[in-house]
Amino acid sequence: MNRVLHSCFYSMKQSSAPKGLPTEVDILNLTYTINWMNPPEESGAEHLGLCDFQSQVISVTKTLPRQSRAETLLHEIIHAINHGMGAPSKVDEEKFTTKMSIGIATAIKQSPEVWKWIMKEITFKPRKPSSKSS
Ligand SMILES: [Zn+2]
Repeated sequence: MNRVLHSCFYSMKQSSAPKGLPTEVDILNLTYTINWMNPPEESGAEHLGLCDFQSQVISVTKTLPRQSRAETLLHEIIHAINHGMGAPSKVDEEKFTTKMSIGIATAIKQSPEVWKWIMKEITFKPRKPSSKSS
């Protein structure tokens, strides 16, 4: 057994999603697990989010402000769509846009609750004091 892989899987299992955060998102023909990770303790290369195509895990830093946290999840979903669409590194812009619009529309269809969550978080506005009409 590969110890590194095992411990990786273990820590993935351990990071239970805080309430209200999506835990899975379907992207094209694949289901990705969403891993809400703690910020890295070691300073160095900081990743707000990661997309592991091989293990189908999207990791997003749990402690980000809610809007950037949702945007980071969206960013990683787009990486997963690109990967699923086989978008090469050099791709014609028109073809890429077509692939992305199909990819995102499909992803919304497959996991509407995740997209509702992303939209809710991105459009979040702190409540204004109610009794201030001037
Ligand atoms: Zn990226």
